[in-house]
Amino acid sequence: MKIWLDGALRDSESARVSVFDHGLTVGDGIFETVKAVDGRPFALTRHLDRLTRSARGLGLPDPDLDEVRRACAAVLEANPVPLGRLRLTYTGGHGPLGSDRGDKGPTLVVALGGTTRRPDTTAVVTVPWTRNERGALTGLKTTSYAENVVALARAHEHGASEALFGNTVGLLCEGTGSNVFVVLDGEIHTPPLASGCLAGITRALVAEWTGAKETDLPLDVLREADEIFLTSTLRDVQAVHRVDDRELSAAPGPVTAKAMRIFEERSAADIDP
Ligand code: PLP
Repeated sequence: MKIWLDGALRDSESARVSVFDHGLTVGDGIFETVKAVDGRPFALTRHLDRLTRSARGLGLPDPDLDEVRRACAAVLEANPVPLGRLRLTYTGGHGPLGSDRGDKGPTLVVALGGTTRRPDTTAVVTVPWTRNERGALTGLKTTSYAENVVALARAHEHGASEALFGNTVGLLCEGTGSNVFVVLDGEIHTPPLASGCLAGITRALVAEWTGAKETDLPLDVLREADEIFLTSTLRDVQAVHRVDDRELSAAPGPVTAKAMRIFEERSAADIDP
């Protein structure tokens, strides 16, 4: 596979990043996952805005967005697939161990993966660990994902594909790599950004296109909601058929099915909404 690194396309087998890259040694990096359909990135402008916001939140230099756009186009052209996900990684770069930040400038890698479509429904578990709604990294899409890796392993142990977190005050927050929506009395609700969740791009589009409301929701809402669904770049809109030991309908419920349809139609009609 061809990837982008340090300003050029390279073979992924031989591309090398320093062992002293701060993305590796201390997790000082940010990322984006961007869906690409028939070689065209979806909602790229929104992803680049979030990349810049994350960089600023971490104190990294602003990414060169012209280079990032060129990198995405070059990687997609070199690896033609009908459906894929670009993975943009941007780190503090490399420097001496113990230094605050790399001293050779940031590292930008763009690669491609995620060529499969997720099933329409999935199982989720809740985990006892909390998202910190007031942390230094809250809302930033950083590469410090180890907590999500641990939670996802817990989900897999229980035959689920996602783990949901509450925050420190017991409110529903998000999944390891997705946002969560619930349907109550026919209305769609999702936790507000103040819950500590990531400003998911799929979340924003689904909320805009379905009129979903931002609502503080207790974690227990998962026991009562008529329908539950997840949103993310990898999942699009995906219904939940089991949460912990509670079974919901095996097929997407009517409100979720409508949200799925709306998302599919609107995103096909506008590649950069
Ligand atoms: N929440 C977290 C923690 C994520 O990592 C992601 C995506 O990776 C999302 C939510 C969903 O965001 P998006 O819809 O932009 O993919």
